[in-house]
Amino acid sequence: MNAWTTLNDELGRWADAGAPATLWWRDDDATHPSSALDRLLAIAERASVPVALAVIPRDIDAGLNTRLQACAQSWVLQHGWSHANHAPEGERDEEFGPHRPVATMLAELAEGWRRTAALPRSLPVLVAPWNRMDAGMLGELPKAGLGAVSTLGPRASAEPAPGVRQTNVHADIIDWSGHRGFVGEAAVVGQIVGHLRQRRAGAVDAGEPTGLMTHHLFHDEGCWWFVEELVRRVRAHAGARWLSARDAFWP
Ligand SMILES: [Zn+2]
Repeated sequence: MNAWTTLNDELGRWADAGAPATLWWRDDDATHPSSALDRLLAIAERASVPVALAVIPRDIDAGLNTRLQACAQSWVLQHGWSHANHAPEGERDEEFGPHRPVATMLAELAEGWRRTAALPRSLPVLVAPWNRMDAGMLGELPKAGLGAVSTLGPRASAEPAPGVRQTNVHADIIDWSGHRGFVGEAAVVGQIVGHLRQRRAGAVDAGEPTGLMTHHLFHDEGCWWFVEELVRRVRAHAGARWLSARDAFWP
């Protein structure tokens, strides 16, 4: 079956149940204004759909603040500190893993939040670089001013530590292990519909909105086409609702 037909059918079931499916959109690695960022924000504005930018705080360019002031659909989350890998050779990349003293990591996160908070519509949410971090750090986040975290895959808990909310993403449009371009509509729509079905079946936390993850600096034409198509189609469907990042983390 055509991928879009599958999505329409699934959203139809949510419409029939009288409770629209909730979704949210997270885009990673922003630091500066660019033509790719303009293109992303234009899609959000044309469709009237909020997009949450995970911004790398160490590298925030002064022009980013001005650019985001001009896009009311943009929200800002904190993407680690410098997106540096501290895992030893041979291990999976991780910025806030078990490799460094907690005090060192907290100092980076606190300074990161201070800088992130200066951007318009910023929220105290840590988007873990490479979508992973040491579970032991979760309870420490409030000490750095942060109150939520976001990684990849169905969450185990809406509040994994006291005062720390979690909302993840569930669909990745880029084929990182292959040609590093658009992975294809069948694959991405499959991930979205798969998560929506699991929510309906109670196999995962039904209250976690389904998250789309994009990376504007890496998009090929296929990625751009898909994002606009998905955002528009979901927006137009009575069985679905795009949430702002604020509503996705603190409903
Ligand atoms: Zn990243």
